[in-house]
Amino acid sequence: MDQKIPALKARHEFHDRLAHGLVKRPVTLVCGSCHKGVSSEMEWQCGYCKYENRRTTLYSFLYKCQKCDKEPKTFLCPHCGASTSLDADDDTTHPAVYAPRKAKPALAEDPREEKRKAHAELKEDKERAIELAELDAKHVAILAAGQSKKVDTSLEKMETMLTEYIALVAGGEMAAIKVRRKLAEDYKDNPELLKKLDKALTRRLEETFL
Ligand SMILES: [Zn+2]
Ligand SMILES: [Zn+2]
Repeated sequence: MDQKIPALKARHEFHDRLAHGLVKRPVTLVCGSCHKGVSSEMEWQCGYCKYENRRTTLYSFLYKCQKCDKEPKTFLCPHCGASTSLDADDDTTHPAVYAPRKAKPALAEDPREEKRKAHAELKEDKERAIELAELDAKHVAILAAGQSKKVDTSLEKMETMLTEYIALVAGGEMAAIKVRRKLAEDYKDNPELLKKLDKALTRRLEETFL
């Protein structure tokens, strides 16, 4: 295991190893403030171009940025945040900073996408509700039309039936008058029988029409 060494020495060490093709072995430096170890393979964000360096076996903050080729002159300790110089310039304007990996994008869904989905679902629901309401209104209209038709039909039927019935009653009564007249004529000599026959006629009329 590598010994923890001060930042400047660590940087020289890293460059040395680089020159000898030994970059696969990380260098661990010790923070001057908190005395905790910081690996040369710490993933970091470039202070110049903001690129997040992940291939730190080679592009360590002790070496240079993979994207802009600039060498960090300082870095911020990932443990205590203290600024530590990596060369004699003491330029602290663009420090390399620890860049932890964010949660996997597959797990962390874009909140805007979620909003879009929710909005689309809401819209769909509303459209469906409107569709249903329209269908309902149509259905009600159809039912109402059907019912009024039914009412009309039954009214017509009732009227026809009553008209026919009244005509029948009227016809019966007219016929009864004629029959009575004939009976009175035929049985004028037998008032007892005439009375009976008249009663029978009345009963028959009542049975038929009432
Ligand atoms: Zn850079
Ligand atoms: Zn520290």
